[in-house]
Amino acid sequence: MLTGKAKIAGVIGCPVGHSLSPKLHNYWLQEHGIDGAYIPLEVKPEDIGEVIAALPKMGVQGVNITVPHKEAVMAFMDEIAPEARRIGAVNTVVVHDGRLIGMNTDGEGFVQNLTANKPAHWDIAAGKAVVLGAGGAAKAVIAALQACKVEVVLTNRTRAKAEDTAAHLGGGALTVIDWDKREAALREANLLVNATSLGMSGQPALELALDALPVTALVTDIVYKPLETSLLAAARTRGNPVVDGLGMLLYQAVPGFEHWFGVRPVVTDKLRDYILNLSFR
Ligand code: NAP
Repeated sequence: MLTGKAKIAGVIGCPVGHSLSPKLHNYWLQEHGIDGAYIPLEVKPEDIGEVIAALPKMGVQGVNITVPHKEAVMAFMDEIAPEARRIGAVNTVVVHDGRLIGMNTDGEGFVQNLTANKPAHWDIAAGKAVVLGAGGAAKAVIAALQACKVEVVLTNRTRAKAEDTAAHLGGGALTVIDWDKREAALREANLLVNATSLGMSGQPALELALDALPVTALVTDIVYKPLETSLLAAARTRGNPVVDGLGMLLYQAVPGFEHWFGVRPVVTDKLRDYILNLSFR
Protein backbone atom coordinates (compact mmCIF):
# COMPACT_ATOMS: atom_id res chain seq x y z
CA MET A 1 0.00 0.00 0.00
CA LEU A 2 1.20 3.51 -0.82
CA THR A 3 1.82 5.97 1.99
CA GLY A 4 2.59 9.68 1.92
CA LYS A 5 6.27 8.77 1.88
CA ALA A 6 6.04 6.66 -1.28
CA LYS A 7 8.90 6.93 -3.75
CA ILE A 8 7.68 7.72 -7.27
CA ALA A 9 9.24 7.00 -10.66
CA GLY A 10 7.76 6.52 -14.12
CA VAL A 11 8.19 6.38 -17.87
CA ILE A 12 7.82 9.38 -20.17
CA GLY A 13 6.92 8.77 -23.82
CA CYS A 14 4.42 9.71 -26.52
CA PRO A 15 2.54 7.47 -26.84
CA VAL A 16 3.31 5.54 -23.68
CA GLY A 17 0.35 3.16 -23.37
CA HIS A 18 2.24 0.27 -25.00
CA SER A 19 5.15 0.44 -22.51
CA LEU A 20 5.85 -2.70 -20.49
CA SER A 21 7.92 -0.74 -17.96
CA PRO A 22 5.06 -0.03 -15.48
CA LYS A 23 4.28 -3.76 -15.26
CA LEU A 24 7.94 -4.59 -14.82
CA HIS A 25 8.84 -2.00 -12.16
CA ASN A 26 5.61 -2.46 -10.21
CA TYR A 27 6.29 -6.23 -10.13
CA TRP A 28 9.66 -5.53 -8.48
CA LEU A 29 8.15 -2.94 -6.11
CA GLN A 30 5.64 -5.51 -4.94
CA GLU A 31 8.24 -8.29 -4.77
CA HIS A 32 10.42 -6.19 -2.46
CA GLY A 33 7.52 -4.68 -0.46
CA ILE A 34 8.68 -1.15 -1.33
CA ASP A 35 6.48 1.85 -0.59
CA GLY A 36 6.61 3.21 -4.13
CA ALA A 37 4.96 3.42 -7.54
CA TYR A 38 6.01 3.56 -11.17
CA ILE A 39 3.62 5.39 -13.50
CA PRO A 40 3.22 6.03 -17.26
CA LEU A 41 3.41 9.72 -18.23
CA GLU A 42 2.37 10.71 -21.74
CA VAL A 43 4.20 13.94 -22.58
CA LYS A 44 4.12 15.73 -25.94
CA PRO A 45 7.44 16.71 -27.54
CA GLU A 46 6.72 20.45 -27.09
CA ASP A 47 6.29 19.94 -23.32
CA ILE A 48 9.25 17.68 -22.60
CA GLY A 49 11.63 20.40 -21.34
CA GLU A 50 9.09 21.83 -18.90
CA VAL A 51 8.17 18.38 -17.57
CA ILE A 52 11.77 17.24 -17.13
CA ALA A 53 12.72 20.48 -15.35
CA ALA A 54 9.81 19.96 -12.93
CA LEU A 55 10.88 16.45 -11.82
CA PRO A 56 13.19 17.54 -8.95
CA LYS A 57 10.54 20.03 -7.75
CA MET A 58 7.95 17.23 -7.66
CA GLY A 59 10.19 15.05 -5.53
CA VAL A 60 10.19 12.09 -7.91
CA GLN A 61 13.14 9.68 -7.91
CA GLY A 62 13.54 9.68 -11.68
CA VAL A 63 12.09 8.38 -14.92
CA ASN A 64 12.66 6.19 -17.92
CA ILE A 65 12.53 7.97 -21.26
CA THR A 66 11.12 6.32 -24.36
CA VAL A 67 10.27 7.24 -27.95
CA PRO A 68 10.37 10.04 -29.13
CA HIS A 69 12.20 11.84 -26.31
CA LYS A 70 15.47 9.93 -25.84
CA GLU A 71 17.62 12.47 -27.70
CA ALA A 72 15.65 15.62 -26.82
CA VAL A 73 15.94 15.18 -23.03
CA MET A 74 19.74 15.37 -23.17
CA ALA A 75 19.53 19.18 -23.40
CA PHE A 76 17.83 19.32 -19.98
CA MET A 77 20.23 17.13 -17.99
CA ASP A 78 22.64 18.57 -15.38
CA GLU A 79 24.96 15.64 -15.95
CA ILE A 80 25.16 12.96 -18.66
CA ALA A 81 26.86 9.63 -18.01
CA PRO A 82 29.63 8.72 -20.48
CA GLU A 83 27.75 5.87 -22.18
CA ALA A 84 24.68 8.08 -22.75
CA ARG A 85 26.86 10.83 -24.20
CA ARG A 86 28.57 8.32 -26.46
CA ILE A 87 25.28 6.88 -27.71
CA GLY A 88 23.64 10.31 -27.97
CA ALA A 89 20.49 9.29 -26.10
CA VAL A 90 19.17 9.00 -22.53
CA ASN A 91 16.74 6.26 -21.46
CA THR A 92 17.05 6.63 -17.67
CA VAL A 93 17.01 9.82 -15.58
CA VAL A 94 17.97 9.84 -11.91
CA VAL A 95 17.15 12.82 -9.69
CA HIS A 96 19.98 13.21 -7.21
CA ASP A 97 20.24 16.18 -4.80
CA GLY A 98 17.92 18.14 -7.11
CA ARG A 99 20.10 17.46 -10.15
CA LEU A 100 19.08 15.51 -13.25
CA ILE A 101 21.48 12.76 -14.25
CA GLY A 102 20.97 11.16 -17.67
CA MET A 103 22.05 7.57 -18.30
CA ASN A 104 21.63 5.02 -21.07
CA THR A 105 21.17 1.42 -19.91
CA ASP A 106 20.12 -0.19 -23.24
CA GLY A 107 23.64 -1.41 -24.05
CA GLU A 108 24.10 -2.87 -20.57
CA GLY A 109 20.71 -4.60 -20.97
CA PHE A 110 21.77 -6.02 -24.33
CA VAL A 111 25.02 -7.52 -22.99
CA GLN A 112 23.45 -8.80 -19.75
CA ASN A 113 20.77 -10.57 -21.78
CA LEU A 114 23.39 -12.32 -23.91
CA THR A 115 25.48 -13.21 -20.86
CA ALA A 116 22.48 -14.69 -19.04
CA ASN A 117 21.09 -16.69 -21.97
CA LYS A 118 24.05 -17.70 -24.15
CA PRO A 119 25.31 -21.28 -24.35
CA ALA A 120 28.20 -21.90 -21.91
CA HIS A 121 30.76 -22.44 -24.68
CA TRP A 122 29.93 -19.27 -26.67
CA ASP A 123 32.31 -16.34 -26.09
CA ILE A 124 31.32 -12.80 -27.13
CA ALA A 125 34.98 -11.91 -27.71
CA ALA A 126 35.69 -14.90 -29.98
CA GLY A 127 34.94 -13.08 -33.25
CA LYS A 128 33.11 -10.34 -35.13
CA ALA A 129 29.58 -9.10 -34.58
CA VAL A 130 27.42 -8.24 -37.58
CA VAL A 131 24.89 -5.59 -36.56
CA LEU A 132 21.89 -4.80 -38.76
CA GLY A 133 20.54 -1.28 -38.20
CA ALA A 134 21.89 2.13 -37.24
CA GLY A 135 18.99 3.63 -35.27
CA GLY A 136 18.93 4.57 -31.60
CA ALA A 137 18.90 1.00 -30.29
CA ALA A 138 21.67 -0.08 -32.68
CA LYS A 139 23.92 2.70 -31.32
CA ALA A 140 23.51 1.38 -27.78
CA VAL A 141 24.19 -2.19 -28.96
CA ILE A 142 27.33 -1.15 -30.88
CA ALA A 143 28.70 0.96 -28.01
CA ALA A 144 28.22 -2.00 -25.65
CA LEU A 145 29.94 -4.39 -28.07
CA GLN A 146 32.84 -1.95 -28.42
CA ALA A 147 33.11 -1.84 -24.62
CA CYS A 148 33.45 -5.66 -24.77
CA LYS A 149 36.27 -5.22 -27.34
CA VAL A 150 34.21 -6.86 -30.08
CA GLU A 151 34.92 -5.94 -33.71
CA VAL A 152 31.67 -4.75 -35.31
CA VAL A 153 30.53 -4.98 -38.93
CA LEU A 154 27.64 -2.54 -39.35
CA THR A 155 25.10 -2.47 -42.14
CA ASN A 156 22.01 -0.34 -42.56
CA ARG A 157 19.49 0.25 -45.34
CA THR A 158 20.51 3.92 -45.37
CA ARG A 159 24.29 3.68 -45.58
CA ALA A 160 24.82 7.38 -44.72
CA LYS A 161 23.20 6.79 -41.33
CA ALA A 162 25.54 3.87 -40.67
CA GLU A 163 28.51 6.10 -41.61
CA ASP A 164 27.25 8.77 -39.17
CA THR A 165 26.89 6.16 -36.44
CA ALA A 166 30.40 4.85 -37.12
CA ALA A 167 31.83 8.38 -37.00
CA HIS A 168 29.96 9.09 -33.77
CA LEU A 169 31.00 5.83 -32.13
CA GLY A 170 34.63 5.87 -33.28
CA GLY A 171 37.10 4.38 -30.87
CA GLY A 172 36.51 0.69 -31.47
CA ALA A 173 36.94 -1.49 -34.57
CA LEU A 174 33.87 -0.72 -36.69
CA THR A 175 33.42 -1.34 -40.42
CA VAL A 176 30.44 -0.19 -42.46
CA ILE A 177 29.27 -2.32 -45.38
CA ASP A 178 26.44 -1.91 -47.89
CA TRP A 179 23.03 -3.32 -46.96
CA ASP A 180 23.06 -5.59 -50.01
CA LYS A 181 26.34 -7.16 -48.81
CA ARG A 182 24.85 -8.23 -45.47
CA GLU A 183 24.48 -11.91 -46.32
CA ALA A 184 28.11 -12.30 -47.45
CA ALA A 185 29.29 -10.59 -44.23
CA LEU A 186 27.72 -13.37 -42.15
CA ARG A 187 30.59 -15.71 -43.09
CA GLU A 188 32.84 -14.10 -40.47
CA ALA A 189 30.24 -13.58 -37.75
CA ASN A 190 30.45 -14.91 -34.20
CA LEU A 191 27.35 -12.85 -33.35
CA LEU A 192 24.47 -11.61 -35.52
CA VAL A 193 22.22 -8.87 -34.13
CA ASN A 194 19.04 -7.56 -35.69
CA ALA A 195 18.80 -4.02 -34.33
CA THR A 196 16.39 -2.80 -37.02
CA SER A 197 12.63 -2.69 -36.54
CA LEU A 198 12.24 -5.32 -39.32
CA GLY A 199 10.38 -8.40 -38.14
CA MET A 200 8.44 -6.50 -35.48
CA SER A 201 4.64 -6.98 -35.53
CA GLY A 202 3.24 -4.57 -38.10
CA GLN A 203 6.63 -4.01 -39.79
CA PRO A 204 8.04 -5.68 -42.92
CA ALA A 205 9.93 -8.96 -42.49
CA LEU A 206 13.71 -9.05 -42.32
CA GLU A 207 14.95 -10.70 -45.51
CA LEU A 208 18.20 -12.45 -44.73
CA ALA A 209 19.45 -15.83 -45.98
CA LEU A 210 21.61 -17.37 -43.26
CA ASP A 211 23.50 -19.86 -45.48
CA ALA A 212 26.91 -18.20 -44.93
CA LEU A 213 26.55 -17.91 -41.14
CA PRO A 214 28.68 -20.36 -39.11
CA VAL A 215 26.40 -22.67 -37.14
CA THR A 216 28.29 -21.72 -33.97
CA ALA A 217 27.36 -18.02 -34.29
CA LEU A 218 24.86 -16.69 -31.76
CA VAL A 219 21.83 -14.93 -33.27
CA THR A 220 19.88 -12.33 -31.33
CA ASP A 221 17.03 -10.03 -32.22
CA ILE A 222 16.29 -6.93 -30.19
CA VAL A 223 12.73 -6.99 -31.55
CA TYR A 224 10.66 -8.81 -28.91
CA LYS A 225 7.18 -8.61 -30.44
CA PRO A 226 6.84 -11.34 -31.63
CA LEU A 227 9.14 -13.03 -29.15
CA GLU A 228 10.27 -15.60 -31.72
CA THR A 229 10.95 -13.47 -34.82
CA SER A 230 11.36 -15.13 -38.20
CA LEU A 231 15.12 -14.48 -37.89
CA LEU A 232 15.32 -16.39 -34.60
CA ALA A 233 13.12 -19.19 -35.95
CA ALA A 234 15.32 -19.60 -39.05
CA ALA A 235 18.52 -19.54 -36.97
CA ARG A 236 17.14 -22.05 -34.47
CA THR A 237 16.08 -24.41 -37.29
CA ARG A 238 19.63 -24.55 -38.71
CA GLY A 239 21.14 -25.11 -35.26
CA ASN A 240 22.46 -21.69 -34.27
CA PRO A 241 22.12 -20.66 -30.60
CA VAL A 242 19.53 -17.86 -30.26
CA VAL A 243 18.66 -15.25 -27.63
CA ASP A 244 15.40 -13.30 -27.88
CA GLY A 245 15.02 -9.56 -27.21
CA LEU A 246 12.76 -9.62 -24.15
CA GLY A 247 15.70 -10.07 -21.78
CA MET A 248 17.28 -6.83 -23.04
CA LEU A 249 14.14 -4.98 -21.98
CA LEU A 250 14.19 -6.62 -18.55
CA TYR A 251 17.91 -6.12 -17.87
CA GLN A 252 18.00 -2.47 -19.05
CA ALA A 253 15.50 -1.70 -16.28
CA VAL A 254 17.70 -2.99 -13.43
CA PRO A 255 20.03 0.05 -12.92
CA GLY A 256 17.13 2.56 -12.93
CA PHE A 257 15.16 0.61 -10.33
CA GLU A 258 18.25 0.33 -8.13
CA HIS A 259 18.93 4.09 -8.30
CA TRP A 260 15.32 5.09 -7.62
CA PHE A 261 14.29 2.53 -5.03
CA GLY A 262 17.58 1.45 -3.43
CA VAL A 263 17.33 -2.29 -4.18
CA ARG A 264 19.02 -4.09 -7.05
CA PRO A 265 16.25 -6.23 -8.57
CA VAL A 266 16.86 -9.60 -10.19
CA VAL A 267 15.64 -10.76 -13.58
CA THR A 268 14.14 -14.20 -12.98
CA ASP A 269 12.25 -16.75 -15.06
CA LYS A 270 9.21 -15.95 -12.92
CA LEU A 271 9.39 -12.26 -13.92
CA ARG A 272 9.84 -13.18 -17.58
CA ASP A 273 6.81 -15.51 -17.43
CA TYR A 274 4.77 -12.79 -15.70
CA ILE A 275 5.57 -10.26 -18.44
CA LEU A 276 4.98 -12.86 -21.16
CA ASN A 277 1.61 -13.87 -19.72
CA LEU A 278 0.48 -10.27 -19.43
CA SER A 279 1.67 -9.04 -22.77
CA PHE A 280 2.38 -11.71 -25.30
CA ARG A 281 -0.19 -14.46 -25.04
P1 NAP B 1 14.91 3.58 -35.02
O1 NAP B 1 15.87 4.52 -34.38
O2 NAP B 1 13.69 4.10 -35.68
O3 NAP B 1 15.75 2.71 -36.11
C1 NAP B 1 15.09 1.82 -36.98
C2 NAP B 1 16.13 0.99 -37.75
O4 NAP B 1 15.43 0.04 -38.56
C3 NAP B 1 17.00 1.81 -38.71
O5 NAP B 1 18.26 1.23 -38.81
C4 NAP B 1 16.22 1.66 -40.02
O6 NAP B 1 17.00 1.83 -41.18
C5 NAP B 1 15.78 0.22 -39.93
N1 NAP B 1 14.64 -0.03 -40.80
C6 NAP B 1 13.36 0.37 -40.60
N2 NAP B 1 12.59 -0.04 -41.65
C7 NAP B 1 13.42 -0.70 -42.51
C8 NAP B 1 13.22 -1.35 -43.76
N3 NAP B 1 12.00 -1.41 -44.34
N4 NAP B 1 14.28 -1.95 -44.35
C9 NAP B 1 15.51 -1.90 -43.77
N5 NAP B 1 15.76 -1.30 -42.58
C10 NAP B 1 14.72 -0.70 -41.96
O7 NAP B 1 14.39 2.49 -33.97
P2 NAP B 1 15.13 1.95 -32.66
O8 NAP B 1 14.73 2.78 -31.49
O9 NAP B 1 16.58 1.81 -32.96
O10 NAP B 1 14.42 0.52 -32.46
C11 NAP B 1 14.63 -0.56 -33.37
C12 NAP B 1 13.89 -1.79 -32.87
O11 NAP B 1 14.45 -2.23 -31.65
C13 NAP B 1 12.40 -1.56 -32.58
O12 NAP B 1 11.67 -2.68 -33.04
C14 NAP B 1 12.33 -1.48 -31.06
O13 NAP B 1 11.08 -1.92 -30.56
C15 NAP B 1 13.44 -2.43 -30.66
N6 NAP B 1 14.03 -2.14 -29.36
C16 NAP B 1 14.12 -3.16 -28.46
C17 NAP B 1 14.68 -2.92 -27.23
C18 NAP B 1 14.75 -4.05 -26.23
O14 NAP B 1 14.92 -3.75 -25.03
N7 NAP B 1 14.68 -5.30 -26.66
C19 NAP B 1 15.20 -1.65 -26.89
C20 NAP B 1 15.12 -0.64 -27.84
C21 NAP B 1 14.52 -0.89 -29.10
P3 NAP B 1 17.11 3.29 -41.89
O15 NAP B 1 18.17 4.04 -41.15
O16 NAP B 1 17.49 2.97 -43.29
O17 NAP B 1 15.76 3.93 -41.78
